[in-house]
Amino acid sequence: MAEARLIDGKAMAAAICADAARDVARLQADHGVTPGLATVMVGDDPASEIYVRNKGRQTEQAGMNSFRHVLPATTTQEDLLHLVAKLNRDPKAHGILVQLPLPAGIDVDLVMDNIDPVKDVDGFHPVNMGLLMSGRDGLRPCTPLGCMMLLEYELEDLTGCHAVVVGRSNIVGKPLALMLLAAHCTVTIAHSRTRDLASVCRQADILVVSTGRPEMVRGDWVRPDAVVIDVGINRVESADGKRHLVGDVEFAAARKHARAITPVPGGVGPMTIACLLRNTVAAACRQHGVILPTI
Ligand code: NDP
Repeated sequence: MAEARLIDGKAMAAAICADAARDVARLQADHGVTPGLATVMVGDDPASEIYVRNKGRQTEQAGMNSFRHVLPATTTQEDLLHLVAKLNRDPKAHGILVQLPLPAGIDVDLVMDNIDPVKDVDGFHPVNMGLLMSGRDGLRPCTPLGCMMLLEYELEDLTGCHAVVVGRSNIVGKPLALMLLAAHCTVTIAHSRTRDLASVCRQADILVVSTGRPEMVRGDWVRPDAVVIDVGINRVESADGKRHLVGDVEFAAARKHARAITPVPGGVGPMTIACLLRNTVAAACRQHGVILPTI
């Protein structure tokens, strides 16, 4: 049996970043606007530090301004809300990203609710979620947006496909299910209480998995010719004691069944940051009343 094609998220992300850099140059030349992204990190979680540093680096590589705010773990909710209010008023910060998780004692929903929806480049604000729900324009969450771009590249037209989304988180599963519905898929959302998950997965033309459980979706749950998008990023230890990354899908076995599959790493991961850059350019355009053909 032929092996599934690998869906190269790294290459597509590089193309999206190049498009963003071109749009930034156009915004600067024609409108005197340099898009800016403000990132806010509270505490010293090592994984968050890496994510925030990468986001800042790639933002600058695309020619945008990056404003990094690193606050101590002892920061109060009031202090954080004060910074968010300041960034909402700052015309140079077109996008605001508060890195999660936040320390205990800070109400994440309250912080997210206080970000100006037009600057909410993560797409988590209830206004942007509501716009997504009603099929209207708004800033879309980066990871689901990246998944959709990979699927549209692979399949062109998703109409009529049965998409099974395993995982119902607010940042991946739920918004992705809405995007798939908007693309005219028949959508099933599965989660930890779903009965007979294997047989639900076997019905999928499109199988997206975002559970945070290493390789839990077995290869033989993948229907022949399905397209598989693996969102999971799990650090595991192999028999020789080395640590490496695996997704939520049993990759080697699934590759024998699927038509196409995203690798981990190099699949959805790079798309998330690329979509963040894209959202920041889109937010800057909207705030300055500019319409670019690519956004
Ligand atoms: P959450 O922990 O918020 O949600 C996990 C979801 O998976 C829940 O809906 C849960 O169900 C479901 N689930 C858990 N166990 C099972 C099971 N045994 N069977 C069926 N469903 C199950 O995770 P996220 O969506 O935020 O993230 C998931 C993974 O994606 C993680 O590995 C994370 O690191 C990765 N990720 C990667 C990103 C990227 O850029 N590539 C971005 C964001 C996340 P229930 O609701 O019933 O509890």
